[in-house]
Amino acid sequence: MAEIFVLIGIVLLFIATACVIAYVALACRELVRVCAMLSVQVASLKRMRPLSRKRRGRVEAPAKAVMPVVQVCDAVIRNLAEEINRARALEPGVEHGFALVGRIDGDGEGRRIVVNGLIAAGAKARKSSGHVTFDRDFQQRELEKLQLLDGRASHIGDAHLHPGAMDRCSNGDRETDRKNVLASHTKEMVFCIITAAAEHRWGASTDMSSIYVDGLKLDIFYLGSASNFEYSKVSVQCIAEPMLALPAMLEEMLSRRPEQARLDWLALRSLKDFSLRVLDISEHPRISSPCIELTHQSEPWKLIIMPSELSDSPPVVLVDDGGDVRQLHDDFLAEKWTPHIWLTEIAFTAAEWMASGRRAGAHAPAPSSELALLRR
Ligand SMILES: [Zn+2]
Repeated sequence: MAEIFVLIGIVLLFIATACVIAYVALACRELVRVCAMLSVQVASLKRMRPLSRKRRGRVEAPAKAVMPVVQVCDAVIRNLAEEINRARALEPGVEHGFALVGRIDGDGEGRRIVVNGLIAAGAKARKSSGHVTFDRDFQQRELEKLQLLDGRASHIGDAHLHPGAMDRCSNGDRETDRKNVLASHTKEMVFCIITAAAEHRWGASTDMSSIYVDGLKLDIFYLGSASNFEYSKVSVQCIAEPMLALPAMLEEMLSRRPEQARLDWLALRSLKDFSLRVLDISEHPRISSPCIELTHQSEPWKLIIMPSELSDSPPVVLVDDGGDVRQLHDDFLAEKWTPHIWLTEIAFTAAEWMASGRRAGAHAPAPSSELALLRR
């Protein structure tokens, strides 16, 4: 009997030992799995570290957006105030406005938004006490005319009057302005809110970042990529640059024969031998319209074309050869003139005329009025 108990004890001990061994084996296997897993994790962490470092190095924080300097021509401010006051007198209590024309000079942090022109709201603009909707088709046509003078000119923002005291852009303005900015190629524009200075508590010039002119307060806001497309009020620099405005002569040419005048003007501007300038002499007592000055780039002479007030009459063409002013008499001007002859052709004819050795007897003295004008 005792042997049986001993045998059972041995079997139980064997089973217990086997269980312990199996448990230890399982534990060891689990330990190995855990270790393997940990080693994978560690390895993966090791692999990740340089990547994350690399990422930190590669993905730089976005460069801090820098607002451009905003410059506005003195003449634009004067004209804007004058026109707004005139409009207020004719139609009080409603919003009036203008498109702003300008360009962006330079790029990056040193860029400058230069406002140098205005375009009226247009005959089809809709105005009320709470809004002004511009006639954009009209403004686009006017902009294209200004681009004949300066190819860099673009729609750079808008200005409008708030009849009350609200000297910032409204929610409605924000919606419209953001749409225009996002649709523009510059992705940045400036917006001017005009209020009557008398509408404000102190009336006088108390806001140092505003422009006060002719009883009006002008506040200018930048909206664009450097302000996360939110308004940011700016203190503008006023500059003495001349305002970009269509000379009456070009306006007249465009109204007579729009397509021809457009092409003629572009052709004149593209002549490599000449630089083009419009002389605004409309105030001169004897000459009632401005004229075009074409200065030869490599020879000491220039051409002055005085368009006739009659569309079918030839212009007066003067050649200023180093102070010796002669009137160009050529067959096509004197006898064969038709309105289909372009100003560009006059430049070519004058160049040939000068190159041919200034033929003796082909010149006549310039009329005294024109000579007096040139010698002023
Ligand atoms: Zn508004």
